[in-house]
Amino acid sequence: MNSILLSGGRVIDPANGLDGEYDVLVRDGGIAAVERAGTRMNSQDATVVDAKQCWIVPGLVDPHVHLRDPGFPEKETILSGLRAAAAGGFTTVAAMANTSPVNDNPATTRYMLERAREARAARLVPVSAVTRGLRGGELVDFAARADAGARLFSDDGMPVDDAMVLSRALDEAGRLGYAVALHEEDRALSRDGALNAGAVSEHLGVSGYANAAESQRVRRDLAIAIGSGAAVHVAHVSTAESLELIRAARRQGAQVTCEVTPHHFTLDESAALTWGTNAKMNPPLRSRDDVEALRTAIRDGTIDMIATDHAPHDPKSKRMEQLGAFFGPGHSAVRLEHNAAAIFAHAANGVVGLETSLGLALELVHRSLIEPARLVEMMSLKPAALLRLEAGTLAEGAVADVTVIDPNLEWIVAPEKFLSKSRNTPFAGMRLKGRAVLTIVAGEIVYDGRKA
Ligand SMILES: [Zn+2]
Repeated sequence: MNSILLSGGRVIDPANGLDGEYDVLVRDGGIAAVERAGTRMNSQDATVVDAKQCWIVPGLVDPHVHLRDPGFPEKETILSGLRAAAAGGFTTVAAMANTSPVNDNPATTRYMLERAREARAARLVPVSAVTRGLRGGELVDFAARADAGARLFSDDGMPVDDAMVLSRALDEAGRLGYAVALHEEDRALSRDGALNAGAVSEHLGVSGYANAAESQRVRRDLAIAIGSGAAVHVAHVSTAESLELIRAARRQGAQVTCEVTPHHFTLDESAALTWGTNAKMNPPLRSRDDVEALRTAIRDGTIDMIATDHAPHDPKSKRMEQLGAFFGPGHSAVRLEHNAAAIFAHAANGVVGLETSLGLALELVHRSLIEPARLVEMMSLKPAALLRLEAGTLAEGAVADVTVIDPNLEWIVAPEKFLSKSRNTPFAGMRLKGRAVLTIVAGEIVYDGRKA
């Protein structure tokens, strides 16, 4: 196996308390040495990568993606999704179970892991469904699912409505040492709302999805979690109220982690006026006050990690042909207000995120909201811990999953260049600062942006 010497970069490795100029030697798939820059390492045979001006960090981990495979190859495949992940700097992604068939059985998990092995890109960690078919009734066999390779349990896309089913799921997963990730939605309150309940939804005549639909379910589920003592993870938190509930539950000893998406901490509900259904997702983009609350929670540590909720969709599912003429920078949605309600109601939820996440997260550093080490914690160390992986570290002897980031490289989001099969993003044309230039998985380069 070949060796790689990453030379002259800034190593940021919060797991080992490192932040400074070090050389990193990768050999035989592992981290062979991390030494002060310029130290003569025994690396004559290594390919030298000049990492000056760059950060060398443990490979990024995304705890929440939808790869649509098996079932929806027109939107994404495991191959295209894992290549997009590698291009975004991710070495591992956790793939949600709402595929077709649902990932609630060993054959589907095996299929996913085999396709991932063939891809030779980012790694895939399968998330198992909590209930069979995501139907909210019968629980999966948790031990068998863990044996098949699942590292996290979630019915994401769907809430677990039955409190007793959730309570039993927390006990089962907790006994095995795994967390349950919760899609928090009280559907009696969200009522198929397509946009945040507020001025924008009212202006467009689109049904509204209130903050309470999320926070009321967070309140119930955290009460159950406190009772069981098991680990829960709140997916894609979007409201100020949910954050308060998470803080309060922690004070009462709950084992609760949470994630935020780049779109929720970057955009507010008004993005729908520019981007149409490419700004429709579940939970919806919220008010400016909620965005500020999320950013405060990133800074104060309430939010543990960043997740993309990468949700690829083809233009037809997004009803973009009905909107295309009206939306985009410089256009106004006012012109279609008479039929916006129906278009938004029928459009699929979600945005792609793997290739924009790091650039959007780096904005938090450039604006001095967080330190670089905290970014690495949120995008590598914490999600690795959630998935019970021995990743998120550059310790000598660890598996060499490494991301090299140029934090100051400016680029413009061009969806037509995405390696993802889908283009549904509200960030097209945005100028971002910083991106991954090299992604290494098990000592092999799986993405090389220096050639791009
Ligand atoms: Zn979800």
